[in-house]
Amino acid sequence: MESDFSTLAGLRTITEHEGLLLAPYAVRGQASRGRRYAEPEHAYRGPFQRDRDRIVHSAAFRRLSGKMQVFTKDMGDYHRTRLTHTHEVASIARTIGRALRLNEDLIEALALFHDIGHPPFGHAGEAVLDACLRDVGGFSHNRHALTIAEELEIRYTEFPGLNLTHEVLEGQKMRADKRAFPLAYLEVQVVDVADSITYDAHDTDDAVKLGLVTLEDLARLELVAEMLENVRRRFGALSPNLMRQAVVHELIDAQVSDVLRAAGQYLSSTAWDSPEAARNSDFRLGPSPPMRRKKEKLERFLYSQVYRHPKLRGGRLRAQEQLRTLFQTLVEHQEQLPRRFQQRAASVGLKRSVADYLAGMTDRFCERIFAQLTQGKAIG
Ligand code: MG
Repeated sequence: MESDFSTLAGLRTITEHEGLLLAPYAVRGQASRGRRYAEPEHAYRGPFQRDRDRIVHSAAFRRLSGKMQVFTKDMGDYHRTRLTHTHEVASIARTIGRALRLNEDLIEALALFHDIGHPPFGHAGEAVLDACLRDVGGFSHNRHALTIAEELEIRYTEFPGLNLTHEVLEGQKMRADKRAFPLAYLEVQVVDVADSITYDAHDTDDAVKLGLVTLEDLARLELVAEMLENVRRRFGALSPNLMRQAVVHELIDAQVSDVLRAAGQYLSSTAWDSPEAARNSDFRLGPSPPMRRKKEKLERFLYSQVYRHPKLRGGRLRAQEQLRTLFQTLVEHQEQLPRRFQQRAASVGLKRSVADYLAGMTDRFCERIFAQLTQGKAIG
């Protein structure tokens, strides 16, 4: 079907396109292990392109715009949301993937999917749901992404969920449990690496812009000091805003270049003739040892000086209290749950179904439902 359409329209097929661009160790759409519910091939979109489109058109993806990354919406509108974080990860991951001649479609689908399971209020919200579900297996945003993709999204008449390819679902399973699934394709590894590059850079940017720390504080860290030095050498003195932005650009560029230098050297010397050969090897994509050490120092700083900043504490505790109260109330009054989650409780258990409902909420929706509940109104 693919070749018929392409011949008619004079287009290059996905298979031809991948054959021209991809390295032998890249995953190929043509070799995909397919979907749980078999579907005919699309005339001109490859399987991973279709996955990307399904993810972008899902309700869970759109709701990422209302979910916080680190900073809440009452702290302004400059900083990242879960959605803009996701786009930055996809952008950086595609850059790395293209340079290494990996499958960019698969990388993009994996990147856009990677945080789709986050509940409201970031990791603070996740910790509450995990504690609420402690006796029934806990809650993890990485696992919840799979539940969304396989069960919760309702977009097609023929099957539940998004019916994504085996490769995208497997990549997410690897994020959820690295010990059970240690052998990730390079495309999966790229997204992991890009996620870390992205949050190290943008949390630095947001924290300085919000005034939680200063560039001078950060300059005590070797990595930031080096970036400042590069910027000063190239541009001389800059205004604080331009300096912050230039440092963030450098942070991304230095980390991406470091990964590519290390990986490029290794990959050009291998004789891998398949993606399986790459994932079964000892090679793991990542920062060079010196960059890893510098990143760890930056991450420790961000953890203690930004993520644990007193200005974030009040909001975090309030959000956690809201989510905990909502969970307990809905477990005691399941008639208040939307009908589909009442029905779902019969198959997955009441606690899990309540958590699935809560995890789908944006921050603002969660606050609104909490307000209705505490005013004694029916929720919904
Ligand atoms: Mg992320």
